[in-house]
Amino acid sequence: MPDLIIIGGGASGLMAAIAAGREGAAVCLLEAGPRVGRKIAASGNGRCNYTHRTISMDHYHTTAPYALLPAMTGFDEKAVMAFFSQVGLPPYIDDRDRVYPYARKAAMVTDALRQWALQLGVTIKTDCRVTALEGQYGAFTARGQGFAIQGATALVACGGEAAPQLGGTTDGYRLLEGFGHQSTARYPAICPILTEKDPIRGCQGVRWWAQATLQAGRRDLLADGELLFNEDGLSGPLAFDLAYTIGAAESGQCKLVLDLFPDVDRDRLLAHLTDRQVSLAFRPIEDFLSGLMPKPLGLALLRQLVQGKMTDSVAGLPADFPDRFVKLVKAYPVQVTGLRPYRDAQVTAGGIDLADFDPDSLMSWLVPGLFACGEVLDVTGDCGGYNLQWAWASGRLAGLSAARYASEGGQL
Ligand SMILES: Cc1cc2nc3c(=O)[nH]c(=O)nc-3n(C[C@H](O)[C@H](O)[C@H](O)COP(=O)(O)OP(=O)(O)OC[C@H]3O[C@@H](n4cnc5c(N)ncnc54)[C@H](O)[C@@H]3O)c2cc1C
Repeated sequence: MPDLIIIGGGASGLMAAIAAGREGAAVCLLEAGPRVGRKIAASGNGRCNYTHRTISMDHYHTTAPYALLPAMTGFDEKAVMAFFSQVGLPPYIDDRDRVYPYARKAAMVTDALRQWALQLGVTIKTDCRVTALEGQYGAFTARGQGFAIQGATALVACGGEAAPQLGGTTDGYRLLEGFGHQSTARYPAICPILTEKDPIRGCQGVRWWAQATLQAGRRDLLADGELLFNEDGLSGPLAFDLAYTIGAAESGQCKLVLDLFPDVDRDRLLAHLTDRQVSLAFRPIEDFLSGLMPKPLGLALLRQLVQGKMTDSVAGLPADFPDRFVKLVKAYPVQVTGLRPYRDAQVTAGGIDLADFDPDSLMSWLVPGLFACGEVLDVTGDCGGYNLQWAWASGRLAGLSAARYASEGGQL
């Protein structure tokens, strides 16, 4: 009988297997899919943004912030970079402090972790979806179609609901709820946001840097970054950063206002547009913003202010047009209507309440010998490597603790 059964072969489960294997524990890892680490391999646009140069707790959302610290300080971003260097993947840090493997190939991260786990004697069984977990310390049983595997301790590392096409499920919540654990409210995060069509009509595919002010219930968020305009809303890093706060607000409670020229102050922009109204007087209105911003976005903005035809000349625009335009682009209102579904999300916000786990070991307070790690727990990081950092840190702590618990005969 193995010392530890790990359910889920994603980022946290693989790191837990390595940590437990290094402690000399006999580990059996059960993965529902045909391969381990499918989300890792898809992460960071196939490049795997596996941590951030300076992890700060401000970038995490959880109902039990104190419970993050032992895991996160025990295996911080520097230790994670050192670990990946040791397994042959030195870091590359981009200009926004996001950390990738030097080769910028996510599949190499999955490969390295899988090889390392196998090298340590971990048994990896793929196509083994656990549908039931029962028992107690000394004899946990994980069952699925055609198998029942026993282990002294059990670790749930099933991840969240996001990206079902890459293995996202509700299984982990269900397995832990079977032992009396409870989940907080869950919703998609790091995902595109849905908006009313009018302000974005015709802009599909445009990328543009903006600053966003989001009023969501009692929370205000100011963020800047690149937006990608979609047919039904906004995507890109800035939209991803807003999604968590939008999801947390009650529906209809979000007010999003964009500054579409955050690096140019009002007076300078007004002066430029006033000059432009003179120098481009003979051009059609549809060309008024040409050279200043992508044409589809410019047209969407012009349509908000111009009653006549876009082929009329700029000379016909009223004298106060530049002033009205500046007011519009410095505070462009976009009505948020919701979030795209889990299929388009990178993570699940919310999860199994972390307060019911010992922060120093990630062992359940309710069931001795039962551990959990990664996204199945109520911990959501911002975009930028924070979620994988939590997966590595919590996986390592839970794997190490489970191995020690088993070797000490049920003591920590
Ligand atoms: C497209 C995409 C891009 C991302 N990019 C980044 C990024 O660049 N940086 C970053 O920090 N984060 C990124 N993330 C988020 C990050 O990948 C996750 O937060 C992280 O993988 C969570 O690790 P985990 O181990 O908790 O879950 P997962 O990695 O999801 O692993 C869970 C595993 O459990 C398996 N499983 C589920 N149920 C069962 C069951 N019943 N029995 C057996 N096995 C089961 C699943 O098949 C899966 O392999 C991205 C996510 C996606 C979807």
